[in-house]
Amino acid sequence: MTEPAAAPAPLADTAAPAKFDRVMLKISGEALMGDQGFGLHPPTVARIAQEVHSVWQMGVEICMVIGGGNVFRGLQGSAQGMERTTADYMGMLATVMNALAMQSALEALGIHTRVISAIRMDEVAEPYIRRRAVRHLEKKRICIFAAGTGNPYFTTDTAATLRANEMNCEAIFKGTKVDGVYDKDPKRFSDAVRYDTVSYDDVLAKRLGVMDASAIALARDNNLPIIVFSLDEPGGFRGILAGEGTYTRVQG
Ligand code: UDP
Repeated sequence: MTEPAAAPAPLADTAAPAKFDRVMLKISGEALMGDQGFGLHPPTVARIAQEVHSVWQMGVEICMVIGGGNVFRGLQGSAQGMERTTADYMGMLATVMNALAMQSALEALGIHTRVISAIRMDEVAEPYIRRRAVRHLEKKRICIFAAGTGNPYFTTDTAATLRANEMNCEAIFKGTKVDGVYDKDPKRFSDAVRYDTVSYDDVLAKRLGVMDASAIALARDNNLPIIVFSLDEPGGFRGILAGEGTYTRVQG
């Protein structure tokens, strides 16, 4: 795999020391499609890569999981008569394409990265080996975990939570279109109220739609905070790492 010749070491940013040392960033595949409604929109991928780059420059170790919903979702395929597990494998393969697009955008900014796939495809991505992935993080390489958990009937939210636990991340950052979790849809209801913090149990009981239930339960059982923030806000990801900005923290 070609790497940028001279990846600069992350600058330890003394003005705004990061509040976290190692994080997982989960974004949906749809975040990469821009306004076109399907597939990949390279300028949007590049913009998100810039956001990640600014956090990497703080010296934060970064894991990423990107969904596949901009290309294919297993449930949609099975609703159209396709066998569910086959459709889910197609969804997992879609996440590999997104991971490769993000890798390319990050490497254009001079960051060393690895795409690590839960389904073996050695010509394209590394297989998932936990200790090896940890070593990449210690060397400040961004690890993009692809192909979900490698199992049908799961989602990339669960994959992000699983890998975040395995990599000892301090939190999952779930980048969305809104700046947190609301009691109702803020795009439809002007009186929607954003939670500063909300418990895992409330997210499940009130079906607040942060992540799917298995992901929330896995985070809860391992006391892994989920920080829901807007990926559309320029500098928002970095701001939260520096202790600023608006977001919702899902915790115990
Ligand atoms: N998927 C799967 N197992 C996993 C992760 C994902 O089967 O561990 C499949 C599933 O079909 C899913 C698709 O991959 O619909 C894309 O992932 P997801 O829906 O989580 O993407 P997002 O909504 O985040 O873009």
